[in-house]
Amino acid sequence: MSARTWRLVLLGPPGVGKGTQGKLLAQAFRIPQIGTGDIFRNAVKERTPMGSVATTYMDAGKLVPDDVTIGLIEERLAAPDAQNGFVLDGFPRTAQQATALDAMMHRNNQQLDGVIEIKVEPDEVLRRLTGRRLCAVCQTLYHLESAPTRLPGVCDRCAGPLIQRPDDDKATVLKRLDEYQRKTAPLAEYYGRSGLLRVVDGNGDVDEIFNRIITALKTSVVRTA
Ligand code: AMP
Repeated sequence: MSARTWRLVLLGPPGVGKGTQGKLLAQAFRIPQIGTGDIFRNAVKERTPMGSVATTYMDAGKLVPDDVTIGLIEERLAAPDAQNGFVLDGFPRTAQQATALDAMMHRNNQQLDGVIEIKVEPDEVLRRLTGRRLCAVCQTLYHLESAPTRLPGVCDRCAGPLIQRPDDDKATVLKRLDEYQRKTAPLAEYYGRSGLLRVVDGNGDVDEIFNRIITALKTSVVRTA
């Protein structure tokens, strides 16, 4: 499946596994994984001007304004490594972002090849996010119940300390899920109308979900160019 280009979008609420599956898709198809959340977190860490705008929204569980996010993606998609495909994880998240992405594709004579919506029950999303921990040094992800470290609070890979993402506390998670329902969930219908949407069950282990995604992509619209 790697002989053709893959321009993919991963849809789904925070915590559903977009980052994990995006990484696997990027490896399988040799395309960059473009995660807007990761880019914003990096900008915050590097104290860039974009980071200082983004951090106030992220900490409040709100979406960063469209003009900032769209500008960022426009620049990232113009980079040489994104010319033969990409997997977008966390973009688009609003109707305005989705139409801006369509316009960018159109301008470059490109089109999306598939939109994968990963679905799990809201209670499971809450459990995943509030129990999520990551290594402060190597960023490996863990979960207090379903993927614990051997020693509590210590990364198995590099012995770094585990931390909780500041926006993974319960109150902020609830706000993020509310933003998702109001602004992002309607995009499933948008992509459903264009025939690009494939819905995948996000329960089960990582490989199982990945196989479902690959199977779903095999049934996506086949392009010749
Ligand atoms: P994530 O890691 O994808 O859950 O994103 C973390 C946070 O970054 C979100 O809660 C938003 O504040 C911000 N963010 C990420 N992607 C977007 C986007 N496409 N539009 C607006 N804000 C975003």
